[in-house]
Order: sequence, then structure tokens, then C-alpha cells
Amino acid sequence: MAYYVYHNWTKHKARIHLGDCSWCNFGEGIHLGAGTENCEWLGPFRTFQEALGVADRTGEPVTPCKHCNPSRDTAKTPRGST
Ligand SMILES: [Zn+2]
Repeated sequence: MAYYVYHNWTKHKARIHLGDCSWCNFGEGIHLGAGTENCEWLGPFRTFQEALGVADRTGEPVTPCKHCNPSRDTAKTPRGST
């Protein structure tokens, strides 16, 4: 499963999606051809933790998508190794 991070710096949010989420569409989003003035898609990432790390680095509040719920298995329990 691939994870993507949607970063919108005008709305100040970073949201983590699964690739097959209808809002994510494997990094295409729902606004095809909308350009990248306000937002960007980051990824794909192999793990939720990897996506979370990158999302954190945007400096925006990070939330998992409520639609695809990518955090259900590993959220908020970062492990240093393994
Ligand atoms: Zn989603």
C-alpha cells in the first residue's frame, strides 16, 4: 500500500492518504490540472511512518484522512527501529 501526503500551505494542513483513496487518487487529487500554487502531493511512501515523518516536516498540523483512515494500524505509536 502506498501512502501520500497532501500539503496545502494556504490552508495550513498536511493530510495523509492512502494511494487508492478517492481524494488522493495516487497523488493526482480530485482537482485534475488545478496546478500547484496552493498545494502539493508528496509521495508515494511505503509506510505510514515515512509519510508521517515527511508530513511533520512541512510544519503544518498533520491529520490522517477521515475517508481512507490510513493511520489505523500504526498511528501515534512511532517506533524508533524495526
Ligand atoms: Zn484519503
